[in-house]
Amino acid sequence: MDDQQLLRYSRHILLPQLGVEGQERLLKSQALIVGAGGLGCPAALYLANAGVGRLVLCDADTVDLTNLQRQILHHMGTVGWPKVESGREALARINPQCRVEPLNRRLEGKLLDDQVAAADVVLDCSDNFSTRHAINRACVRHRKPLVSGAAIRFDGQVTVFDLREPKNACYHCLFPEGQDVEEVRCAVMGVFAPLTGIIGTVQAAEALKLLAGCGESLNGRLLLLDSLAMEWRSIRLAKDPDCPVCGGSRS
Ligand SMILES: [Zn+2]
Repeated sequence: MDDQQLLRYSRHILLPQLGVEGQERLLKSQALIVGAGGLGCPAALYLANAGVGRLVLCDADTVDLTNLQRQILHHMGTVGWPKVESGREALARINPQCRVEPLNRRLEGKLLDDQVAAADVVLDCSDNFSTRHAINRACVRHRKPLVSGAAIRFDGQVTVFDLREPKNACYHCLFPEGQDVEEVRCAVMGVFAPLTGIIGTVQAAEALKLLAGCGESLNGRLLLLDSLAMEWRSIRLAKDPDCPVCGGSRS
């Protein structure tokens, strides 16, 4: 780290659990953020500000006026832009040293596989089940830690599937494909603006801990937030030994 970096990250370096070593790890790491919306915006902001070396930001959408209520990377000047370009511009203004690679397309197939393989941590900030399952399968395949968040109306949830360890549950263990409860979307149901900030920020915190190698992650625990009552609940997660994604073939 040069003098500027030592200053910029000094409040992290002061933390004994992080220190110079943890900060160096962040600077060398690469995170994949799928979705530059309500969850992806705060997650990307904190990862870039905190010094993660490289961020791959993936989203096929363009910025719309209805996004600005909660998607805090975007602003009036970038309405109509691809969200990932709007995000890159905002992040570069705060921390030009963080290299942001914008992918303005749906992440699937070989691209998804390659990006997950190249990442040190994956943040699922998407808004639909098919993407969530595809990301999970790729993370299981490449044994990458997956930080998963969701927010709708006043309800949020967040957890970590630390798929570096075969004994840990995956997304499919928790939400089996095909049994998906009906898809509810913010466009139809609405979403409380700061809820997405809270959940996306928890995702950033978990990703930073995983990258720096400090603390204990949310692996094995699902946090549920009712932001109307502002009550958190924690549920223990168990691996499904018959899970077709992470179970049979690996045990
Ligand atoms: Zn599983």
